[in-house]
Parts: sequence; structure tokens; C-alpha cells
Amino acid sequence: MADIDDKKPWGSFLQPKIIKSKGIFPLIPLKDAVIFPYTATSLMVKRKKSLKALDAAKHDRMVVLVAQEKKEIVDPKPSDLYGVGTISRIREINKLPDGTVKVLAEGITRVKIKEFLEIEPFMKVRIEPLFRPAIEETEIVEALMYGIKNQFKQCINLGATVPLDALLMILNITDPWQIADLVVLNLDFKVEEKQRILESQNVEEKLQKLTEFLFRQIKILKVAKKITKETGKELGKIQKEIFLREQLKAIEKELGVAGGKTEIEELKDKIEKAKMPKEAEEKAKKELARLERMPSFSPEISYIRTYLDWLIDLPWSKKTRSKIDLNQAQKILDEDHYGLKKIKERVLEYLAVQKLVGKIKGPILCFVGPPGTGKTSIGKSIARALERKFFHMSLGGIRDEAEIRGHRRTYVGALPGRIIQGVNTAGTKNPVFMLDEIDKIGADFRGDPSAALLEALDPEQNFAFSDHYLEIPFDLSNVMFITTANILDTIPPALRDRLEVIDFPGYIEEEKFYIAKGFLIPKQLKNHGLNEKLLFITDPVTRTIIREYTYEAGVRNLEREIASICRKVAKEIAFGKKKLYKVTVDNLKDYLGPSKYHITMAEKEDEIGVATGLAWTPSGGEVLHIEATKMLGKGSLILTGHLGKVMKESAQAAFSYARAHAEKLGIKGEFYKDSDIHIHVPAGAIPKDGPSAGVAMACALVSILSEKPIKRTVGMTGEVTLRGHILEVGGIKEKVLAAHRAELKTVVLPKDNKKDLEDIPKNVLTALKFIFVENMDEVLKVVLEKKAN
Ligand code: ADP
Repeated sequence: MADIDDKKPWGSFLQPKIIKSKGIFPLIPLKDAVIFPYTATSLMVKRKKSLKALDAAKHDRMVVLVAQEKKEIVDPKPSDLYGVGTISRIREINKLPDGTVKVLAEGITRVKIKEFLEIEPFMKVRIEPLFRPAIEETEIVEALMYGIKNQFKQCINLGATVPLDALLMILNITDPWQIADLVVLNLDFKVEEKQRILESQNVEEKLQKLTEFLFRQIKILKVAKKITKETGKELGKIQKEIFLREQLKAIEKELGVAGGKTEIEELKDKIEKAKMPKEAEEKAKKELARLERMPSFSPEISYIRTYLDWLIDLPWSKKTRSKIDLNQAQKILDEDHYGLKKIKERVLEYLAVQKLVGKIKGPILCFVGPPGTGKTSIGKSIARALERKFFHMSLGGIRDEAEIRGHRRTYVGALPGRIIQGVNTAGTKNPVFMLDEIDKIGADFRGDPSAALLEALDPEQNFAFSDHYLEIPFDLSNVMFITTANILDTIPPALRDRLEVIDFPGYIEEEKFYIAKGFLIPKQLKNHGLNEKLLFITDPVTRTIIREYTYEAGVRNLEREIASICRKVAKEIAFGKKKLYKVTVDNLKDYLGPSKYHITMAEKEDEIGVATGLAWTPSGGEVLHIEATKMLGKGSLILTGHLGKVMKESAQAAFSYARAHAEKLGIKGEFYKDSDIHIHVPAGAIPKDGPSAGVAMACALVSILSEKPIKRTVGMTGEVTLRGHILEVGGIKEKVLAAHRAELKTVVLPKDNKKDLEDIPKNVLTALKFIFVENMDEVLKVVLEKKAN
């Protein structure tokens, strides 16, 4: 406590701070508190200006705290503040979920405000520390002290509650100045009274004022006690406070102090206007009554206020007028999107059913596909067509049930779950609510979020969705939920059952070209404040960007590259170089740098031991070059490239197959005795698994052992058994599109996968040659060059 000694306002701690800042500090006005030196007080900082002042004080943690004369004033001017405050050190700062900041401030010394230097964005003042006057132990002081201690004891006897340590300090301390401060702090004095004690110039004045205020305090306590007796009930601490407050209110009314609405009254108004269902309104009123009864220092106050704010803000009955007009919906979907014919049809069918049924029912739409294929964008168009608000939220990485359903209010910092938060942000009870990445929610010891999610999504039960925080049901049956995912496999089965899956397989180059020309370029021009008279991107440029600057199933990077050109041009124009910027294939490098994906598969040479595999990833199909090499050794098989268990097993199977059929395959020597084989699947950072690379691994192996090169332009996928049979695999659509993107010529697929070609665009089917196989012999016939080079 050495450095908070009021006797030495220029003490070792404060002096350098004051010199450094020339006595200038940020100021925070206090609505209903006065800070005294020696004491630590917990404050709730809520007003924007005060938060800014707090932020400015972040560095040396010093701030001037001054009470305002009337607590109702929201944005006090200098004239609304008292002239004496306390310079305080900020000990702790805690942000609460509702934006309020809880601050532990330690009063250091009283200060006089000399000058207001700034009012906006927060108050900044020049101060002068106030010396504590010398204390003379006169008889008057002694007599006053004696009286005060007695009065204080009387207060305690009448039921005033004071923490034990404060009580002991007051009874044992001999310093009259300090005693006065402690008594004021620990009894329920008005701000005005506290301020007058703080401002006292000498100890006699201070003690006299205190005597006067204690006298009033005792009177109130006596009245309260009388009431208690009369009603014959033993009132608890909380009720007693209400009586005291009522008394105070009455006194204030008589003195003409009161005016304006109290916070409780304001909340009451808001609750009535919020048009809550009956159950919610009753709950809100109950909580409000609890708030009213709470002693002002209770930490629970801020929790109850946050809770009431949530109840008041939620759109219990706010709806946008929504109707389903199918012609309009079709028009909007076509207006916003190129192609996607099947998808639009499915969406319209879905809407038609909703229209006939009259409300949202049945399965929930789930858009499945790689990123950038228009899932979010279709969702937005649906909202536009239905004239509903759109809200979009990602569920990626959620493992805790409470994230969906909220924490119970007993938790510190509890909030409603994401569903209720989303509806609240949307501001209506019937938005189109898009939940992204439902394939990425997981379950663990913190509960199963998918079960809670199911309850929120299921139209049969979501009319009374229970959020742990709200404690009362919220009707979600008007919300139109749409979910999206990159893959179906990882969605928990119970959830998957309720989804109506619509596939977004990805675009071919031709589609990307029209999307860029018709949608992405105009959109980005507009976003950057440009038009075709300022920036012109030629068609060959668009195609070059698609081929050489992006490699993806969707159009997200394509849009990014276009935005990047727009940004560069916008910058030039902003610098005053206004003209038409024409981007051509020749000058494209100046905008986007050298091309990123230049060499196509077809341009590379065939090699021994390198097979072109087709793989499936959540972001679309991929072409992988699987490599095998042989070296002297003892017949072991080395596998690298971050492979999963299943993939390793299929490499083993390929190895055994090659060994068993060595002679037929033209493999000479006993490689399993004198050589080691190493198989590597590149792009090592990405974990890979699944059996579908079996065929490619077996080809690479046979190629290296038989020394016959593999045709680079043949892409392959399929599982191999020990006997060389080829089994069906998944993700054909994405793999074929990837092969097309990589400009391969031939694709080898398991025979049983023939059915999967149905959904693939015609021009892709005609650009590629498909060979369906049942066993390895057929594969090798197609894949291996006849003669070794
Ligand atoms: P996803 O949600 O599938 O990751 P987005 O909906 O965010 O993809 O799409 C990325 C961008 O591509 C958006 O700007 C979107 O408008 C645009 N886009 C995608 N598909 C189409 C399409 N068929 N027609 C027009 N624009 C499209």
C-alpha cells in the first residue's frame, strides 16, 4: 500500500506518472459511485465514450474517475461532473459477453480537475493532486470520532450489513481521515453524500458532515426496522434493501430529486413492447423482479441484464412477409446463376412442395460439393426469391453441444447457442438460415452437437427448440434451414437421414468461362467501382486465367484472380491515371504475375514407374502422380506420402499381386529377394486414404519391375484385389472432372462404376475416352507402353 498513500500525493509511484503525462489523463464519469483513495472498487464500464477512455488508459493504466451529479445523464458534459475525483490505477480488466467491461480500479489520491482538454472521442483532463491536510488531534476531532464510532455501531445494530474485515478496521483504526472514508464506503450513502465527504478540505469538516449523514442513515434504518416489526415478518437482507430503497425514493421525491425513468422501468417498457409469447414474457417479468430486488453491488446484476436483453431482442414475432411465387423464384435463380440446371430444378421442386403444404416441412436441403461451386450463392438467391432475410453460419470444428444449444446460465459468461444467436442476428423469425460445413462437426465428451442440431433442424420438433441459456422454448418452425457440406461421409448418420442431398459437382472449363463472363467479372467491376469503359478483360484472358492461374472444381480462386485485377486497376485510377485498361493475354502477367499451373499433363513425357492416379478430395477431384522406384535391398516395401492404413494395405496387395504374377507380367529376376521397392504418393502434406489408388500403385509397381513406361495421359482409379480383380470406388464424377481439367486423354475406371457417368456433362464425356475394366490384365494392356524405351 506504500504507493497509494494519500499523504504523499507526489509519492514514488504517482509522481513520475504525473510528470510524464504533464498531469493529463483520460477521465471516466461514474453514474453512481465515488472512488476513495486506499480502496479497490469493481466498476462496470458500458458507455462507448468510457470504453474509449479505458482503451486510451491501456498503456500506463491510470485514469481519473469522477462521479456525475445526476446518474440519469447518459452522455455527461463537463458541467455535469463534480470537480473533484480520484486518480486510480486499473488493476484488472475483464470483458463480459455483452460488451460491458468489468474493471477493478484502485483509488490512489484525490485530484482536482483543472481543465477539460478534450471531450470527444473521450474526455481528457489536466488534474492537480490534492494534498491531504495535516490532522490536528483536537478535542473536537476526538469527540466527533467518538460519536461516529457510536453511530456506526448503532447502524450495525439496526441491521446494516458490513463485511467483517471492514468492521474490524473501522473499530480499530485511529486515523480519523481514513475512518471517515471507510465508514462512507461501507454504508449505503448517496453519491452526493459520498462526494461531499471526498471533497472535504479538513478533517473537522469531514467528520462533521459524516455525523450528519450517519444521523440520516440511522433514521432510515429505524423506519425500516419498524416496518419489519409491524408486518410481523422477519425480512431477509434483500427485502430490507427494497424497503430502504423505497424509503429513499420517497425522500428523494419529496426533495424533488427524482426524475426520468429508472432502468427497471425502461426494461419493463421494452418487455411489453417485445411481443413475446406468454411463457417468455412471464419469465422476463420474473427476472426483472429479481433484478429489482438485487443489491446494487451484486455481480449477478449484469448477468440478469444480459439475459433480459436477449429476451427483449429476440424476434419472437417479427417476420418478413414471405410468399412462395415459383415463377419469381425461377427467374431469380436464373438471374443469379449460370447453368446448374438440375440443381435449380431440385430447388424449385422443393419450394413447390413447401408451397403446397403451406409451411416448412419434410427433409432439410443439404448442398454437397467442393468450395466455390455456388452453394452459398444459391442459398442467397432462395432467400431473395422468398423475400426472407438470409443468414449464414459455419459449423466447422464445433465439438461441444453447448455451442448449438447454449450454456446454462449458471456458467460464467454463458450465452445462447449459435442457432439462437443466428436467428437474433437475422432479426426475424423466418430467415433462410444456412449452416455451412455440417460435415465438420464432431462429437466428444462435451456432448453430441449433431443431436442438438437435429432437434433444431427437424420441423417436427423445432417449434419448441430449447436453448439451455434461454430456458424457455423458441419457435424455429418458420426458419428455412439449408445445410452445406463438402462430403457426405462424415455427416453423422442420424443427421444424414433427414437431409435431402443436392450435389454440386463442380464446373468444367466452359461453364467457368460463362460464369466469369456473365457473373464474376460484372460483379467484381461493380464491387471495385469500375465499369467496362475503365477495365476490359478479353475472352482469351478469361480462359487463360481459368487454365493457368486456377486449378479448382469451383470458381472461388477464379473470382479472386479477377478481383485482384480489378484492385490493381482501381488503384491506378485512384492515383489519377484514368483511361481504359485493357487486359490481354500478353499483359496479363503484369496483373497476376507468372502463370501458376502452366504445364499440362499431356506435355510431359511418359516415364517408367510413374502412374497417373485420380483421387477424390473434399475440394474436388485431383490428379496424383504415383511414383515407384527400385533399389538393391532385401525385398521390403517402403511407402511414403502421408498414407492412411487402407491405402498402405492396398499397396501391400499390389506388391503381392506383382509377386504372384511376376512371370505373366514380364518381370524378370527375384525382385522380392534382392531389391527394395519404394512407392511414393506426392503432395505429402495432405493425408490420403482409401483403396481407390490401388490400380495406380499396382501399375507403377509393375512398370518399374517390368521396365515398361506408363502412358501419362491415362488417368486411373480403382481398388485391386490380390487376384487382380478391380472393384468399384467412389467420387467418380469429381475424378473425371479433374481428369478433364488436367487434359488427360483416357480414363480407366472399374466396370461397376459405369453407372456413375450419367451425371457428367456431355462435352466432358466426349472429350475423354473411357475404358472400363474388370481385372489388372486389362488395365496394364491400356496403360503400359508396348516396348520399353
Ligand atoms: P460455395 O458456397 O459453394 O463455396 P459460393 O456460393 O460462395 O460457393 O460461390 C463462390 C462465388 O462463385 C460466388 O461469388 C458465386 O456467386 C459464384 N458462383 C458460383 N457458381 C455460380 C454460377 N453457377 N453462376 C454464377 N455465379 C456463380
